[in-house]
Amino acid sequence: MLTWVIIVLSLISLGLVYEFLARKQRRWILDAAKKGFAPAAGGGSKKTSSNNRNSWLLVIAHPDDECLFFGPTLINLVDCGAEVNLVCLSSGDFYGRGYERGQELLEAAKLFKLNSVKLIQDSRLQDGANHHWPPQLIADIINQEIDKQKVNHVITFDSHGVSGHPNHGAIQSGVLELLNSLSYPSSPSSSKKISKFNNIRFYSLDSIFIVRKYLLFIDATLVLFLHFVLRLFIDQDETGSSLLFALPFKEYSHLRRCLHSHNSQMVWYRHLYSFTSRYMLINHLKSLN
Ligand SMILES: [Zn+2]
Repeated sequence: MLTWVIIVLSLISLGLVYEFLARKQRRWILDAAKKGFAPAAGGGSKKTSSNNRNSWLLVIAHPDDECLFFGPTLINLVDCGAEVNLVCLSSGDFYGRGYERGQELLEAAKLFKLNSVKLIQDSRLQDGANHHWPPQLIADIINQEIDKQKVNHVITFDSHGVSGHPNHGAIQSGVLELLNSLSYPSSPSSSKKISKFNNIRFYSLDSIFIVRKYLLFIDATLVLFLHFVLRLFIDQDETGSSLLFALPFKEYSHLRRCLHSHNSQMVWYRHLYSFTSRYMLINHLKSLN
């Protein structure tokens, strides 16, 4: 009995620490947003960079990826006053429910207050682990959206894609294809590359070891605490080459409402995920350029 009391009291204490750190992190992100976040490589100083424009593009593979994996990022960015645009590369038609899932995505985007949503329906981008998605096609789609929405920050998965789904990892290949194909040496003798994307920062969402992924708010609290200490002692701020987004519990409830827009996907393990996954609480983004 005493053991259970100690466990419950420890979790409550840890939850309070998490709430304090998450609110602190949220304020730091709001401050960073006022400065235009990080200037991209070669993008010049913060004051002169076009990065003071605050327009973002999130590229996902399936409807519901935005809630399952990128919720803390989306809620923080919208609250900062950023224009957030979403491109989903498939309708998630693996079980023949693509139309329904597309509608659910629109509903979730409304709740997130996103600026725009585009659902790609291309036979070369079919939902499924056995379908290879051509990197060049993904690169072309992202390039078009960057031009259309005039974004200066792009976010997507890293090569593991958090859950290990090949469609998630394929987007990273498309981004790298895009960065390489439109980069060229600044002079024949120079190894420094210039690119159309010198003023655009590309970020990928960090995949973590599965045990850390499902530790309720324990892992999230430790990550936030470490970040808090680093800020205190080495003056690290939110304008570096990585970004950490966190949700206080009130905003976490909002993310759960957004997730429930994907009604067709709310099987028992999705409910469990929404209570246990750290991606419902924090997102760590790393810069790719
Ligand atoms: Zn997915």
